[in-house]
Amino acid sequence: MSTESQQLYSQLPAIDRLLRDPAVEPAVAKYGQTLISELLRQMQAQAREAIKARQQLPEWCHNWPQALLTRLNQQQRLALQPVFNLSGTVLHTNLGRALLAQPAIEAVVNAMGAAVTLEYDLEGAGRGHRDRAVADLLCQLTGAEDACIVNNNAAAVLLMLAAIAPGQQVVVSRGELVEIGGAFRIPDVMRQAGCQLVEVGTTNRTHLKDYRSAINEQTGLLMKVHTSNYSIQGFTAAVDETELAMLGREQGIPVATDLGSGSLIDMAQYGLPAEPMPQRLIAAGVDLVTFSGDKLLGGPQAGIIVGKKALIARLQQHPLKRALRVGKITLAALEATLRLYQQPELLAAQLPTLRLLTRPQQEMQASAERLLGQLVPYFAEQFELRAEACWSQIGSGSLPIDRLPSYALTFAPRDGRGSTLEHLAQRWRSLPQPVIGRVHDGKLWLDLRCLEQESALVEVLSA
Ligand SMILES: *Cc1c(COP(=O)(O)O)cnc(C)c1O
Repeated sequence: MSTESQQLYSQLPAIDRLLRDPAVEPAVAKYGQTLISELLRQMQAQAREAIKARQQLPEWCHNWPQALLTRLNQQQRLALQPVFNLSGTVLHTNLGRALLAQPAIEAVVNAMGAAVTLEYDLEGAGRGHRDRAVADLLCQLTGAEDACIVNNNAAAVLLMLAAIAPGQQVVVSRGELVEIGGAFRIPDVMRQAGCQLVEVGTTNRTHLKDYRSAINEQTGLLMKVHTSNYSIQGFTAAVDETELAMLGREQGIPVATDLGSGSLIDMAQYGLPAEPMPQRLIAAGVDLVTFSGDKLLGGPQAGIIVGKKALIARLQQHPLKRALRVGKITLAALEATLRLYQQPELLAAQLPTLRLLTRPQQEMQASAERLLGQLVPYFAEQFELRAEACWSQIGSGSLPIDRLPSYALTFAPRDGRGSTLEHLAQRWRSLPQPVIGRVHDGKLWLDLRCLEQESALVEVLSA
């Protein structure tokens, strides 16, 4: 070893001494000696590596307490970080979809810290069934006879198929063999559930006679899948649920619909694209309807199955239900969310999903103009800022075809370089509360539809 290296090694401070450093002591008091000593050991190992490889101490060695605190901050950051969703997609799957309503948040907080009557009947002091309260609410809201709750809608479809048509044939139109992002494909789910998919009709046209002629002794289910992420236009034909339900009744075969989203209120009354409602399908005679808790419903991630009592009982008793069931946190959030639907007049104000989807464009425009004035001083040197009209999306992956007029703040690099834009986007992703925008057409767009607290954004962007 060279004397030079020896000299560098001797400069490394002892861990014991660092632990007693007045700048480190508060961190030891807060996080405990074990965690801090471990971090210091890692830092020492890194410094030794640097001496060995380059005969040099890393830059941060000039201030060990400072370097320790920086690492500690990074390490203590939770993986689930709150961000500003200015991507323009309201129900963004990668950003956790629906924001919960205040009553749902309160219900979750209460349920988390206390023992709750999850499967406990206070009257009989016996064992209740964990979906009961939520199922009762769903029956009131949809007119269904019973309901079953699982972890997400993909699980709902899997459980439904496995419990209703095990080893049997399931008839689906070729126009509805949907792939939802994240490897949910109807033909694959069928296989996993132990069902045999029978495709009928063509991509653009399927008729009632196609379903009818596919029926035989092995048919266990007639199924429709809502094509929530694409549309087939032009020379098309599909069988509606009323007709299919009649055929199912006539043949003694259950009929199911995977709605995907499925809103419990008529979206058209808010000027939003119409979405099929579970209660309409139940009224049309469909036996089972599945939909997500965190798409248009605006609740927690969950899969909801509503329908006929005898069929729901088969789902509840199936071993997969035990594997796919939800916990008290989900049930608490879902119950509180569904209660909001009992007061439809208040829904647009109380349910964040609906509130954000129904914000008028002028509101985002006014917001863009106010922010422009406040942010120009910080960015004008490198970027041209403008308030510009844009389109928001309702969902990512699941509902990308429906667009809503919105307004954005745009940042165009004065040097016209994509790398300048990418650098800005990257800098914003590393802020204490990261700002997620969208790069498009040589600009960075911040769609303001989901921004309800302008001052919070100004604070992080101007820091
Ligand atoms: C979104 C969707 C699913 C999957 O629902 P998750 O809640 O994401 O599991 C299944 N089917 C359709 C038609 C969908 O739109």
